[in-house]
Amino acid sequence: MRILIVEDEKKVATFLQKGFQAESYTVDVAQDGIRGAAMALSGIYDVIILDVMLPGKNGINILKEIRASGSTTPVLMLSARSELEHRVEGLNLGADDYLPKPFAFSEVLARTRALIRRRTPDLQGSTLAAGDLRMDVLARKVRRGDRDITLTNKEYEVLEYLLRNKGRVQSRVLLTEHIWDMNFDSETNIVDVVINRLRRKIDDGFPVRLIHTVRGVGYVVEEEPDETAAQR
Ligand code: CA
Repeated sequence: MRILIVEDEKKVATFLQKGFQAESYTVDVAQDGIRGAAMALSGIYDVIILDVMLPGKNGINILKEIRASGSTTPVLMLSARSELEHRVEGLNLGADDYLPKPFAFSEVLARTRALIRRRTPDLQGSTLAAGDLRMDVLARKVRRGDRDITLTNKEYEVLEYLLRNKGRVQSRVLLTEHIWDMNFDSETNIVDVVINRLRRKIDDGFPVRLIHTVRGVGYVVEEEPDETAAQR
């Protein structure tokens, strides 16, 4: 999951960035409204955390641009407690949630998780599933059949993204954009490397494979047997 934080107060931005990174989210930070708006409109973020008072362009105007572009990316707005009118305006303009400053990181994390959860209709409680594979997204545990599976952070992130989009083919570009941050070198074949490692861990030794390659397009997690997937 990749999060954009648009916040000009360096202390707050760093506090959020470190907190989310510790929870294994991929995080980018924009410290002014102009850059924040451009990044927000890129469409690569799973959640946007948007401060209201920003240099260049304020959060309300950025939110307007995001929604005018047709994007439904969840937006969590931040602003000083006294700025009640911003809260009302933000929610009217299509913010998904609002958090007054100061806040505890646990609160931001809980709200962010709730926003991501709402976008995943297949999620049952905290569990994502495909076939006999179960991923507990709160405990970050993966199990297939009666086997516990230990994944690295990036393996987990890729699998989580594919599970949240089960049955829909995800291109390498899309996977890269949602899981690696801006400093990532897109020339590498890191997605294929991670997918191969994931396959060894979750598919090897099981009669039904869950990760399928759609040649020339990307990858999809699906419960259907290989032969069916191969015919697509
Ligand atoms: Ca600010």
